[in-house]
Amino acid sequence: MLASRLPGILPPMTEQEAIETATIHSISSAGFQVENWMQRPFRAPHHTASAVALVGGGSQPKPGEISLAHQGVLFLDELPEFDRKVLEVLREPIESGKITISRAANQAEFPSRFQLVAAMNPCPCGYLGQARCYCTEEQVRRYRGKISGPLLDRIDMLMEVPAVDKKLLRPKPDDVPPESSEVVRQRVIQARQIQLERASKANASLQHKELEVFCTLSDQDFQLVENAISRFGLSARAYHRILKVARTIADLAGSSTIQTVHLTEAIGYRRLDTAN
Ligand SMILES: [Zn+2]
Repeated sequence: MLASRLPGILPPMTEQEAIETATIHSISSAGFQVENWMQRPFRAPHHTASAVALVGGGSQPKPGEISLAHQGVLFLDELPEFDRKVLEVLREPIESGKITISRAANQAEFPSRFQLVAAMNPCPCGYLGQARCYCTEEQVRRYRGKISGPLLDRIDMLMEVPAVDKKLLRPKPDDVPPESSEVVRQRVIQARQIQLERASKANASLQHKELEVFCTLSDQDFQLVENAISRFGLSARAYHRILKVARTIADLAGSSTIQTVHLTEAIGYRRLDTAN
């Protein structure tokens, strides 16, 4: 449910983005629906979907789900249930924002710059830590092992979602009401505006050289990241991604520099050992 609400807090599409998305949809089997104009797509393919349905292909190459999600959200529920080979194919578009499909006779390239959201259970039964979970350590290890290190490395934020707070189901009159999506969206739009004015692009698209200019850290904070890298065994890619996330957290907070608190939060999203 949270994932499907994400498009509601994303900034509005530019006309250029809308044209790109509409063009891809227009060559898909389902075609482009005019009521979706200027709407960021939300695609949630089932884990039984074929590789061609997900990444695209066919004798006359057609875009797959990852391209139909271009400029929007791609939600993969029950991530470990997807074919591992298909998941590995995601690595290229996550980095480059496009996918190349090679067939014997044809080669096609489709844009696929999507916001990836994935969900999985903490163990095969989903009740890890509770009395009703009978999963063995080995079963849990094998289940989590279905997601490769290199794929996890490309996921910026990992978090454990606790069971639903009963208070949310039956709010009391004196409870502070939660923020509406529209309020959050205004903050997102503002943060994106800051990014466009600073570097003419979103933080996610910053190149290595630009990170050195726009994501500078104090000596003390650099030490903090260095420690996290060695403690969690992170890659250089993960380091760059932490900087981008920290920069975005700072932008959302309206801070011109990355502060320790922003960096710590970004590093916190890299922790995997939260669930037992
Ligand atoms: Zn279990």
